[in-house]
Amino acid sequence: MKYHIITFGCQMNRSDSERLAAVLENLGYESTNSEQSADLIAVVACSVRQAAVDRIYGKVKIWNKIRKTRKLITILTGCVLRPDQKKLKNAFDFIINIKDLNKLPALLKNQKQFSEEYLSIIPKYESQFQAYVPISTGCNNYCAYCVVPYARGPEKYRPAEEIINEVKCLIKNGYREITLLGQNVNSYQSQNIDFPKLLRRINDLPGDFWLRFITSHPKDLSGQLIKAMANGRKICEYLHLPIQSGDNQILKAMNRHYTVAHYKKLIRKVRQAIPGVAISTDIIVGFPGETKKQFNNTTKLMKEVNFDMAYLAEYSPRPGTVAAKLKDNVSPKEKERRYIVLNEILKETALKNNQKYLNQTIEVLIDGQKKNNYYGKTRAFKTVKVKKSPSIKLGDIIKVKITSVKPFSLEGVIIK
Ligand code: SAH
Ligand code: SF4
Repeated sequence: MKYHIITFGCQMNRSDSERLAAVLENLGYESTNSEQSADLIAVVACSVRQAAVDRIYGKVKIWNKIRKTRKLITILTGCVLRPDQKKLKNAFDFIINIKDLNKLPALLKNQKQFSEEYLSIIPKYESQFQAYVPISTGCNNYCAYCVVPYARGPEKYRPAEEIINEVKCLIKNGYREITLLGQNVNSYQSQNIDFPKLLRRINDLPGDFWLRFITSHPKDLSGQLIKAMANGRKICEYLHLPIQSGDNQILKAMNRHYTVAHYKKLIRKVRQAIPGVAISTDIIVGFPGETKKQFNNTTKLMKEVNFDMAYLAEYSPRPGTVAAKLKDNVSPKEKERRYIVLNEILKETALKNNQKYLNQTIEVLIDGQKKNNYYGKTRAFKTVKVKKSPSIKLGDIIKVKITSVKPFSLEGVIIK
């Protein structure tokens, strides 16, 4: 019996898919890359934007055709909102909460369910040198536009010792990059260990590895965290700090609990403490009621902060959220225009930031290949392309001299 997993959305979903894969393999299923040859297809869904939800419905149509010719088991899990659960009830054999992975043996094979907490399941890591390690699930922040608190439930933290043991094991097995995951890592708390302390504990483990984390909420980013990043040699010089809007009124309507001035102050502190740090963000354009003037405050902020990367999204009303009760009054065309305006600013600031790497020699973790090239990431999360060389393999950290730069990538030559 073969299984195939389709993952939509964020890194947390990718990590969840790795745990789902481990459970299925324990039940005797084998992985396949092709939907066509799978006996079991599982979707780890995302409901953050309607476009991602629509993709599930698209898949269902295809599988209904397959079902006419042969037996197929389908499972829906991940972030699924109640209205979609109801609508998709007959389209899937099983719809399960991701936290209930322990029920799969009973559902699929009539075997006893196991008692493990879902985050304690050791994943079938997709990569042999990069790993996602969740430190929490859920979210308590209720940003007005966001479904995550409804789809994932309240924040729950994984015990620090369990996280540290997983990381120790990964390092022992040669992993070079560990990314800690949480919707808001800054609110992590387990006994008397907060997030900066957890970072320091992991940084101090013996071994040669890079440490990353996502995501930080600006309202909770502490001086202690900046200090831990500045002092931790293994903690990468990269911070993802979603601002969402550059306008104070919109931030208030979004229920974000910080001001633009506070955000800019944080950026100044981070840049001062961590030389060479790269900063990325998330921004939503066209939140209900966002005027042109309020949007222009976001363009102003983007020009001031000079982001390395910004994940831009057009506002998508999500059922059940506070913002869904507001009128979605920015037209799709205007949302698109605002998206394009911000993207143009981003290309300029990102290119400007990348220019400092020209002729510099930097470390790159090689994590992909295509035709005659290897691709990798720097500690600052920049993508780098180099020509393939027989002395190098995936997972190596090598030195590269940068010879040309673009807004979202660098190119260079390998330094022996
Ligand atoms: N926990 C993370 C974000 C999780 S959702 C954080 O707080 O930063 C990832 C991103 O999707 C958000 O940062 C936001 O920019 C975007 N997003 C969430 N809900 C959205 C919606 N309804 N419409 C458009 N974008 C949305
Ligand atoms: Fe959503 Fe806000 Fe929680 Fe992030 S912090 S997951 S945007 S509610």
